[in-house]
Amino acid sequence: MGDRVGAAVVWDPALLGYDLGGDHPFNPVRLELTMRLSRALGVLDGVEPVAPEPAGDVEIGRVHRPDYVAAVREAPMASWDVGHGLGTSDNPVFDQMHAASALVVGGSLAAARCIAEGRADRAVNLAGGLHHAMPDRAAGFCVYNDCAVAISWLLDNGFDRIAYLDVDVHHGDGVQTVFYDDPRVLTVSLHQHPATLWPGTGSVTELGGPGAQGTSVNVPLSPGTKDAEWLRAFHATVPSLLGAFRPQVLVTQCGVDTHVEDPLADLALTVDGHREIYRTLRDLAARYTDGKWLVMGGGGYELLRVVPRSWTHLLATVLDTDIPVETSVPVDWATTVRKLSPDVVLPSVMGDGVDVAFQRWGGGREQPVDTVIRDVRRAVFPLHGLDPDDPRD
Ligand SMILES: [Zn+2]
Repeated sequence: MGDRVGAAVVWDPALLGYDLGGDHPFNPVRLELTMRLSRALGVLDGVEPVAPEPAGDVEIGRVHRPDYVAAVREAPMASWDVGHGLGTSDNPVFDQMHAASALVVGGSLAAARCIAEGRADRAVNLAGGLHHAMPDRAAGFCVYNDCAVAISWLLDNGFDRIAYLDVDVHHGDGVQTVFYDDPRVLTVSLHQHPATLWPGTGSVTELGGPGAQGTSVNVPLSPGTKDAEWLRAFHATVPSLLGAFRPQVLVTQCGVDTHVEDPLADLALTVDGHREIYRTLRDLAARYTDGKWLVMGGGGYELLRVVPRSWTHLLATVLDTDIPVETSVPVDWATTVRKLSPDVVLPSVMGDGVDVAFQRWGGGREQPVDTVIRDVRRAVFPLHGLDPDDPRD
């Protein structure tokens, strides 16, 4: 394993310009409050953020069709329906939509570049993670798919085996679609079961195209899934696949809408569970990709009580300045939040006070989540030369 060369944090307040407006759930206050909380806790001490440039048409064109990009550009001026999923309640047209979306893509590209050029072995763009955007249309609050653009760029800049892990509560459908036939990219998404949540894809049987069987992996979880079950499913599937696939870089979409309080979905994770997930991802990068870890944000719609705390833990994990869950929420930060929302009841500490210990899967079917573990392993593991029924694999 090489020496650590540090971590890069991509940030510029201009990223707050990706604002879908009104009372849309994807409110940039989530990012602003995360950065404020991280600073208040000293997580960003000594960190000089990397300010991104907007991605140009060539880079956006790695994933998106020119007619779609043209529609994004002209939509704010157009008096007609430009199509491509734009102008819907999920994806309303907003001023400077192209520029703001291109800057988000530029953020993930800047992070990817830091890693490819050896300036950092970890890099994070919390404004990124727009995993639902499709080549020809906006979807699920996502205009351009920064995750897919960054992966595509890495494929042309020294990497030919990339693992993408998506822990958002929604299926990472856009990224899966872009690389469905590409055996160089392993996409793994853990999400709420598609029968119970938009976008309705991400079943175990979506395995990748004919030349890429086994490189799309989906772990659909029942509503109500808690930390211990989520972690059991993750550990029973993901590490073995990484060991078999041997990626050179780990790319993760770290949406936090799996939280029990999230208003848009029904899993039941906690901030403590999220923190454990981040630490696990860091361990996996150390073990399988020589520490190379590209981190994006994603969903998360409990804007005040959940997202800032969870993503502060994410930044701290990336920067190796882990924060104990018992740490008090800083008074100044809480005051700022109460100015925005006087009635909010804020947590007093950085965790939710739960135990995230879990039991590892042992090959049987003792818990409800073991059914999906068995289904995923039986569908995917043989395609990687792994034994689905042997818990050591
Ligand atoms: Zn989501």
